[in-house]
This record gives sequence, structure tokens and C-alpha cells, in this order.
Amino acid sequence: MLQNIKYYSTNLQAEKVSFREALLKGLAPDRGLYMPDTIPLVSSEELQAFKDHEYYEIAYKVLRKFLHQEVPDHDLLNIARDAYDFHVPLENVYERKYIMRLDHGPTASFKDFAARMMGRLMQYFLRKENRNLLILTATSGDTGSAIANAFYGLRNIKAVVLFPETEVTERQRKQMTTLHKNIKIISVKGKFDDCQALVKRAFADPELNHLRLSSANSINIGRLLPQSVYYIYAYSKLNNGKPDDKIIFSVPSGNFGDLMGGLIAMKAGLPVKRFVVSTNANDEVPVYWQTGTYNTIIPSVNCISSAMNVGHPSNMARIVALYGGVMDENGVMVTEPDIEKMRAEMFAVSIDDKATKETIRTAYERFNLLLEPHGAVGWAGLMKDFEVNQPDAGQDQLSVSLETAHPAKFPEEIRGVIGIEPELPESLKYLDEKTEKFDSIENDYHVFKNYLKDNY
Ligand SMILES: *Cc1c(COP(=O)(O)O)cnc(C)c1O
Repeated sequence: MLQNIKYYSTNLQAEKVSFREALLKGLAPDRGLYMPDTIPLVSSEELQAFKDHEYYEIAYKVLRKFLHQEVPDHDLLNIARDAYDFHVPLENVYERKYIMRLDHGPTASFKDFAARMMGRLMQYFLRKENRNLLILTATSGDTGSAIANAFYGLRNIKAVVLFPETEVTERQRKQMTTLHKNIKIISVKGKFDDCQALVKRAFADPELNHLRLSSANSINIGRLLPQSVYYIYAYSKLNNGKPDDKIIFSVPSGNFGDLMGGLIAMKAGLPVKRFVVSTNANDEVPVYWQTGTYNTIIPSVNCISSAMNVGHPSNMARIVALYGGVMDENGVMVTEPDIEKMRAEMFAVSIDDKATKETIRTAYERFNLLLEPHGAVGWAGLMKDFEVNQPDAGQDQLSVSLETAHPAKFPEEIRGVIGIEPELPESLKYLDEKTEKFDSIENDYHVFKNYLKDNY
């Protein structure tokens, strides 16, 4: 039986809404983030049955629990099949340690999983109601291309993507700026956090109400829920059928949307032993774990795992909510969460650039494992967990580290460290032949606001 799930705001000052409303609004009216008020269960029988399912079937079966028939089953199944038409390889490294490659989608980053599902769900509701939306999103690199690609050519939706001028790679930029049509790309003279602040302010600006703005950042619940599916997928494919077989996931984290997906999967009953929360030098979360004091890092530190250069992750409010606390949109802890429980369920570790490069090198030399910087942060975090928490963990410990982007998206780093040229996936091959088009603005809200008014 399906539970009736509503979505509440992490600031607790707004009414609960349906999935449809949470999806189309993005941010709650009190500036909080939407969360399901109940997490539906995935039973161990279901998990075993998923062993023989395709990825899209698992996505359909998991997501329908959260949508409570707001999208009829056959429509949802079609959306899932259409969104997930690519492989999700689980690559064995040694013993029962795996890399899950989430980089086989059209923009070669894990953000395709979320963006493609969210775009299609939005289109489903908008077409039914004959309405339009303007999506605003800030990107540190991969979100923008995934969103632009996922929304490209969809009906009833236009999208504006802001990126920090100097913080995305050329390839990431081209993945966005060569699309055109219903997609506009803006380069901002600032950092990712500045882009995100501009977007957040536009949402809260009553003078822009007529534009029907919505968000596609990981603050949107429609992006978050699909990110719980691959954790369930990995476990269902790799578990040994014994009830005590628990899994460790290492999640390279920036804005913590990916990790939130995993935490939701765990609360839905997935037998997770622990999450390794792997950040780069933006270590506000590992420091919080250690000290119990949360301080944002502004401006954020520039690391080679550039999509994780986030000094104030917006999903922190959701993680805090999941553990009984309240954090407002400025990062102020209004009510303390159960930090002991957080520490027990998550091991947080910061990996700097030097260690990241070292990991790219040793993973390649020891295991013939090709990692790009984000995946290397994840793998290094997992190795750290073995060292610190389980020095004598046997070969039986099932562990999966997430590779969130394709190595060919970061050729400079890979070339520099191990001297090889990662092969381009099909989706990235023709970028250089296409024409780029984007606008540039100062990091100034009034300039951004006028841009929106003039263009829409
Ligand atoms: C966005 C991104 C991350 C971080 O994911 P969050 O959900 O923001 O924590 C990690 N790796 C890559 C390649 C990304 O694009």
C-alpha cells in the first residue's frame, strides 16, 4: 500500500505540500527546503527482487512510493525508461570494493540522474496544466550542463544557468553554452556561492513573481529523490543475500545532495553500515563533525574537484532536519540535531588536492582504476575509513565509492598525474565543433534582476 506523503519545509514555517507543488516551487515560501514527512520503506524482499531489474525499473518502483500516485504508474514508468537509457557500471576494484560509475549519462556526470528525472516530471505536470516555468539554477560546473541538457527542448520550460566565470572547465562550459533554444547561460564574475546567492535572492523577490521562477539546484526535492535510487540499485546488485550484509558508501560531496539521496535510501531501510562523507579542502562538514560547531567557509576554497567547492552546502539544512535539528538558510543552527547519531552513521573526512592527486596516481598504479578528481576524493575517503574505523576489516566488507564524473571531463589533471589521455565518451566528442553562446554579468543582484526582466 502506498503511504500518503506530504512535503514539509526545513524552516517549519510553511504549509506541507504535495510532491507536485514541492517540485514546481523548488524553495518553500519560508525559504526552507522541502523534505518528505514520511520516508516509505523498501523491504528486503523488494531489495532481493531488484537484483534482476533494470535500473529504470528500480527507479520507477522506488520513486512511485514517494509520489503517491500524483503521476500515474504507467506515465512514471515511461518517464523512468526515457530518463535512464544509459548504463550504471559497478566496477570491481578488489575483494568486495567497488566503484559505481555514475558518469554514463549524456553530460557524463552523476547529475544526469537527477536532472533528467526532474525535468521530465516537471514537464509532465506543466503540460497537463498548460503552464510555463522559468528555471533558475547556479552551477559549479556539472549541474549546469546536466540541467541545460536535461531541459533542452522540453516543452513549457525555459532555463537560465549561472556559472562562476573562472571555476568551470572549458569542457563543462561548452556542454552548456552550445545548446541554445530554450536555454540561456550566464557567466558571473564571482564564485559558485555568489551565483547561488543571486538565484536565491531572485526567488525571494516579489517583483519577479510574474516570471514563475523555479529552481533546479539540489535544493529541489525532484532532484533529490532520484539520487536515492542508485544506492538501492548498487546494494541490490552486490549484496550476498545474508541479512547481516551491510554496505559502506563513500560519497564525494559538495552541496550534499548526493549524500542526502543516500541518507534517504538508508532511512527507507537500505542496510547501510556507514556513509563516508568525503569533501575536498572545503571541510566545514568534517570540522563540524569533529567540533560540533558549524562554520561556513566564505569564500569557498578552490580545489581541483571543482564541483565540490562549496563552503555553505544548502543541503546541510536537510541533513540537520533528518537528525531532528533546524538550520536556517544562512547556516545558523536554530535547533541542534542529534550529532552523536550523525557521527555514528557518517564518517566525514576532508581530502586536499595533494592527496587527491596522489589517489589518482595510486589507484591507477595499484588497481588500474581510472579516477577523476571528484571520484578520487571519494576513493581516498573510503581508504581513510578503512584505516581509521576498521583497520582489520575483512575482505567481506561490501564497499562502494561513487565516481561522479567521467575522467575525460578533467583531462588536464589526469594527464598531469598519470600521463594518459582519458578517452572521450560519445557524448563529449563533438563539443568543439559547436558554437558557444553566453552572456556575462557582474556579481550584482540588480544587474541580474534587470537581465531577467529584459529577457523574459
Ligand atoms: C556536483 C558534483 C559533486 C557533488 O555533489 P553534491 O550533491 O553537490 O554533494 C561531486 N562530483 C561531481 C562531479 C559533481 O558534479
